[in-house]
Amino acid sequence: MNGMMLSEDELLLRNAVRDFADQELSVRAADYDESAEFPWDNLDTMKKLGLFGLTIDEEYGGSGGTWRQLALVVEELARGCASTSLIYIAHLSLTTQFIHQFGSKAQKQKFIPPLATFEKIGAFALTEPGAGSDAGALQTRLTKSDGHYVVSGQKTFITNAPQAEIFVVLATSDRSLGTRGINSLIVESGGTGMTVNPLTGKMGMRASSIAEVVLEDYAVPFENRMGGEEEGFRQTMQLLNSSRIAIAAQCVGIAQAAYEAAVSYAKQRAAFGKHLADLQAIQFMIADMATNIDAARLLVLRAATLKDEGHAFGKEASMAKLFASRVAVEVSDKALQIHGGAGYFAPAPVERHYREAKVTEIYEGTSEVQRLIIARNVLESKIA
Ligand SMILES: Cc1cc2nc3c(=O)[nH]c(=O)nc-3n(C[C@H](O)[C@H](O)[C@H](O)COP(=O)(O)OP(=O)(O)OC[C@H]3O[C@@H](n4cnc5c(N)ncnc54)[C@H](O)[C@@H]3O)c2cc1C
Repeated sequence: MNGMMLSEDELLLRNAVRDFADQELSVRAADYDESAEFPWDNLDTMKKLGLFGLTIDEEYGGSGGTWRQLALVVEELARGCASTSLIYIAHLSLTTQFIHQFGSKAQKQKFIPPLATFEKIGAFALTEPGAGSDAGALQTRLTKSDGHYVVSGQKTFITNAPQAEIFVVLATSDRSLGTRGINSLIVESGGTGMTVNPLTGKMGMRASSIAEVVLEDYAVPFENRMGGEEEGFRQTMQLLNSSRIAIAAQCVGIAQAAYEAAVSYAKQRAAFGKHLADLQAIQFMIADMATNIDAARLLVLRAATLKDEGHAFGKEASMAKLFASRVAVEVSDKALQIHGGAGYFAPAPVERHYREAKVTEIYEGTSEVQRLIIARNVLESKIA
């Protein structure tokens, strides 16, 4: 795909992760999907490959690198095992990056090294039962008491929570202030008053763990607040802009996997004395899939390039996420259609990709929320 104008370094990295995805991730993906077990062996290899330090400064134990590289890595991981890519994104581009972007030097020195080496797992806790798209309506409270904060509230749908030791938690000091009352905290597990209740029955991404997290008078040191009081909502919106690049790359990876399965099946399945691939109706589906995947990939690389070069990238990240998530859903749908009945049964990979794709239109801002962000950017801009 060097129609994507990748550098030598980018190609080397992408090819190394692609080999790992082909040799290990995709081989185990169906079993992990069925068992819904946390894929420790996948993550151990990723740890050895140093993937958890990507985009993180070397002085905090990371390996540096760009968001373009991160996008290429996520695409390949998702192509091999979407669940594993989700664990990676929640850990790195949500949790570790939150601390990297908004933590003080002391906070980064303390919390990032074990995250960048995956000695500890991170989770990002924003969503609550009554606050999803309307994140500013969150109710988790923080109050001050004897040299520390006391945090109480209920978070839900928190990826990685069952294994996580370091959480980024958003909580309000004053509900009457709305979004201006929200603070961001680094919360370590292990104290009294944190209950993690795993959630089951997920439609896809079944090997990534997810839980409700209940905090009851949970003590958090004052020095664990990131930035000034009440900066948490602004930080979160900024953080989600960058993490959407990773989710959009995940969408491209899921779509690419479904497309490759469909092309391969169309070439070997006989019908009416030909192969499916000889039928123009099937060829048209394949042409649309290939075109849309390339367009999505280019939108992802554009958003990542803008971020790497220090330009505004929020609108472009939302466009990439909006478009790529639709492509993932549509391509996995067409790929299943090309398989006919055989695609409707596990362990056909397309059956899994079809279930995996849907959530990309929901998390890290639903498609409706992406449209709100894009429209606001367009309407506020002087150049339409
Ligand atoms: C598998 C999975 C993993 C997740 N991981 C995490 C995680 O690690 N951390 C975390 O904090 N959260 C996580 N989430 C939560 C996720 O980010 C939320 O589900 C998402 O933001 C949507 O919120 P909601 O589910 O409350 O839906 P709602 O906000 O209730 O939305 C319901 C519907 O209404 C639409 N809607 C809402 N407001 C508007 C509007 N103003 N205009 C138009 N339409 C609107 C939405 O687009 C959607 O279609 C995860 C969710 C899932 C499913």
